[in-house]
Amino acid sequence: MTVGDELLAGETENTNASWLARELSDRGATVSVIVTVGDDRGPIAEFVSRFHQEYDRVLVTGGLGGTHDDVTMAAVADALDRELAVDEDVRAEVAAASRDFVAAHPELEQRYDLGLDVEAWSETVAGGRPIENPAGLSPGCAVEDVYVLPGVPSELRATFDLVADEFGGDRRSVTRYTDAPEGALQSHLEALEASFDVRAGSYPGEHADRNRVRLVAADEDTLESALAWLADRIDLEET
Ligand code: ATP
Repeated sequence: MTVGDELLAGETENTNASWLARELSDRGATVSVIVTVGDDRGPIAEFVSRFHQEYDRVLVTGGLGGTHDDVTMAAVADALDRELAVDEDVRAEVAAASRDFVAAHPELEQRYDLGLDVEAWSETVAGGRPIENPAGLSPGCAVEDVYVLPGVPSELRATFDLVADEFGGDRRSVTRYTDAPEGALQSHLEALEASFDVRAGSYPGEHADRNRVRLVAADEDTLESALAWLADRIDLEET
C-alpha cells in the first residue's frame, strides 16, 4: 500500500510500488494487490485491517514522520487495535539526527525554527519492532505481519534492505520476447495454461514488432517444462 495525496494526484510517480513489487517478486513472493490511498487515517486503517486478514504480509509506505499529514503509523495502530509508543533507542537516534541536521545547516537555522518534535517523529506502533532508517529521520516498524516503511524512495530502499530476508517464496518467473503477433500467441498461451500449472501473460506495445511473454509458476521445474513446451511452438528470444 502506497500512501500519499500527491500519488493520487499524479504529481509523484509511484516508483515505490513498482520497486517493491519487483523486489518481492524477485524473491519468489507473490504480490496480490497494490493500492494507493490518500493521507487519511480512516481509509488507511480500513485497508490495512482488511489486507491483514486476507494476506500473509502487508507493506505500507509513505506518510511517516511528525508533520500534520503523516498519519500512516497511527492508522496502522488503529487497524491492529494498538497504541503508538516511543522506543528509547529510536528517540535517541531521531534526536541525534535532528542535532546533526541543525549543525550541518547553520544558514537555515538563522532563518527558520528547526526545532523538531522528537517525540512525534519517533513514534511507532506499540509492541512492534522499530526498523531503523539509515537514510532519514522516520523509523519504520514491523508489527504482526504489517511492515510500515518510509515514503522517500531512498529511505524505503534502505529500510526494506534491513527486513528483505523476511520476504520470499518459491514462485518463479521467466520473461521472453517473440515476433509472434498477439492473435497467434493467444491459442498457445491458453493451451500452455491448460497443460501446465502456470500463468502466462503477453505484453504488446512495449517493443516494435515484438511481444513480451511472461510465465509464472510455483516452482522452477514446472517453469522450465512450460517454457520448453512454448519454445517448441513459437520463436522465443531472451532479450
Ligand atoms: P518523511 O519521513 O520524510 O516525512 P514519509 O515517509 O512521510 O517521509 P512522504 O511524506 O509520504 O514520506 O513522502 C516523502 C516524499 O517521498 C514525497 O515528496 C515523494 O517525493 C516521495 N514519495 C512518497 N511516496 C512515494 C512513492 N510511492 N513513490 C515515489 N516517491 C514517493
